[in-house]
Amino acid sequence: MQTKPARTRIAPSPTGHMHLGTARTALYDYLLAKQTGGQFILRIEDTDVKRTVAGAEQEIMDGLRWLGLDYDEGPDVGGKFGPYRQTERREIYRHHAKILIDKGHAYPCFCKPDELEKKKRQEQMKRKENPHYDGTCRNISPDDAAKRIANGEAHTVRFKMPHDGVTIAHDHLRGEIKTENKQLNDQVLLKTDGLPTYHLAAIVDDHEMQITHVLRGSEWLGTFPLHVNIVRAFGWDEPIWIHLSVFLKPSGKGKMSKREAAEAMKDGHSIFIKDMQTLGFTPEGVLNWSALMGWGVAEDDVLNMKQMIERFSIDSLTASPAAINFQRLDHFNATHIRLLTSEDLAARLKPYFSREGLTVNDETLLKIIPLIRERLTTLDDCISFGGFFFKEDVNPNSEDLIAKGLDAKQSAEIAKKSLQILSGLSSIDHAVAESAMRAYVEESGLGPNQIFGILRVAVTGQKVSPPLFESMEIIGREKCLQRIQNAIEILEKM
Ligand code: GLU
Repeated sequence: MQTKPARTRIAPSPTGHMHLGTARTALYDYLLAKQTGGQFILRIEDTDVKRTVAGAEQEIMDGLRWLGLDYDEGPDVGGKFGPYRQTERREIYRHHAKILIDKGHAYPCFCKPDELEKKKRQEQMKRKENPHYDGTCRNISPDDAAKRIANGEAHTVRFKMPHDGVTIAHDHLRGEIKTENKQLNDQVLLKTDGLPTYHLAAIVDDHEMQITHVLRGSEWLGTFPLHVNIVRAFGWDEPIWIHLSVFLKPSGKGKMSKREAAEAMKDGHSIFIKDMQTLGFTPEGVLNWSALMGWGVAEDDVLNMKQMIERFSIDSLTASPAAINFQRLDHFNATHIRLLTSEDLAARLKPYFSREGLTVNDETLLKIIPLIRERLTTLDDCISFGGFFFKEDVNPNSEDLIAKGLDAKQSAEIAKKSLQILSGLSSIDHAVAESAMRAYVEESGLGPNQIFGILRVAVTGQKVSPPLFESMEIIGREKCLQRIQNAIEILEKM
């Protein structure tokens, strides 16, 4: 197990909604940092200015906080290795690009991404080669290059990849990855606008910010050899590299597409953190679920943050792809809802009631928690199981008020009789009401489901509800009697 304090970072690009992949990487980063007494850092990789989406950075920060993954350093909390937004670090990258040029590991490139370049690439493809930069500017003398730059000629800076030999990169999960250098491209490090590409920016920042473990998506495996070469060209120590497993769509065949994400949403699921919150998932459920997709602890482990911090090990991360299983998310969410204290659960349910326009009475809310807790898969299920507690009136569907095997008239008679019994009681205490109503069931010769069914629909407005008599006690005597009266009127009009 790792013992030295680890410095880890989540380095998202603010180009869209924060998704599951970012949350899971951030979780592992956080666990490793906390377990070793190190730091977890948020770095915003916003150098692809054209793809930056307004509000995305805030969504990342909010998402991390919602998940409870508070970062020790970041754009809005500061830290001694800042700034933590890459567009604010331009000079640092320029300076480092120059170091590489001076060391002979990079060169200014004046080629334009114009027709000529395009043509060259098409020819390469015809020759069945991977499209790559053909090295035109690789051998321009430093003096010539300096003159052209002084003349204001637009240029990029490219990495000078060694042509011979093999790059051996080491990934903690995948072992040694060997690549023939001639397969590798002279990638752009600094763009014409002076901003760095990911390749330069991430490597420089990971070094400058003293990152010990780089956990990132396996989409970076392709350029991993380049990154290792850049680190080595600077003469720096490498971090421990960990390329995490990819997520596959629920069928296990391929990655989740936009269309499938939209389908999942209709079904009450999402791969986006903000949606998960809206849909009533808890941070505990989301974290537990995502932790186990790619971490080989026992499959069914219900873990809270403290337990995850204790048990986490980068040695038990797995490289094999993980199919997204939303049923398991439901399972973990429901399980964690059951583990919350009543006060905590009440506080979390309140916004969902408010969202429906319901005004919640705190005392009532605490009383209904034991009745609905076991029925909740997501927090917003509180509306279907408990919304009627906070409504002035319920509007039962007339058909639902008719008990099985009976007609409207007979059902109205039962409702009247029930009203008579209940209004004769001094209180609507659940035990008292239930025994009185059970006595009525006995003498009527009808089934309990028939009589209680009418009563349930009358007082809750719905066919499925928490335990009837406990619910009636919470709704209160007056409201119950009034709702039954209302049901009688509906039935009589049928
Ligand atoms: N900005 C990169 C991304 O969003 C980060 C990759 C990394 O963690 O280094 O994919």
